Formats: sequence, structure tokens, C-alpha cells
Amino acid sequence: MRAEPGAGGRPGGAGGVGAGGVDDLVCGRCGHGYRARVLDRHLWCEDCVAAGRREAGRVGWMCGAGMAAGLAAWIYFVQRPSAMLLGGWIGAVLATFWLGGRAGRELAYGVLRFRHRPR
Ligand SMILES: [Zn+2]
Repeated sequence: MRAEPGAGGRPGGAGGVGAGGVDDLVCGRCGHGYRARVLDRHLWCEDCVAAGRREAGRVGWMCGAGMAAGLAAWIYFVQRPSAMLLGGWIGAVLATFWLGGRAGRELAYGVLRFRHRPR
């Protein structure tokens, strides 16, 4: 990619082929040049997609763990579960951890993609 001094980044991404007909594009995350067909529709290379998913997964599990911890604290201090219902509450906490982790991962991945969107 050529740097155009003063012009700034052009918005839009439709028809990304420049004047020269060059099929090399720059990955939106790591900035390395790749063939256009190697990049996905967000202009990320495969390595960055994998790294982004890993990072989003980490954030997502932390998010799920936080939600589960909050629920567990609420159950423990507010609901004061009896031994009989404890298994059900533990299941609810685990389900929250799982679902919160998944939702947090998708959310984190979306945020990552938005932050590194092609300009
Ligand atoms: Zn990349």
C-alpha cells in the first residue's frame, strides 16, 4: 500500500482495488501485505483471525467467570440455598458461566473487529 501524504485515509471499502490494479492488500490488524483473496471480508489475514478469536475467547471466559461469580455471590448471600437446592444453583452458575463466556466471546470478537475495521 502506498502512503498518500496529506490525503488521509479514504473511507469506504467497496471495490478496494486501487489505481494500479494491484491485488495486494494490507491486513487491517497486523498491517502486513497479503493477496486480497487471503484476507477475509474484514480484511484480516488468517493469523489475525485466529489470534483475534483466541483473544476474544479469553475475554469471553473472563466475562462469563465474572457473571458466574456475581450470580454465585447473589445466590450465596441473598438466596441462602439449602443443601437440597444447592445442586440446582450450581447448575445455574455453571450455565451462566458457559453462556456468559460464549456471549462475551462473541461480543469481544465484534468489538475487536470494529476496532480494527478497515479504513
Ligand atoms: Zn494480519
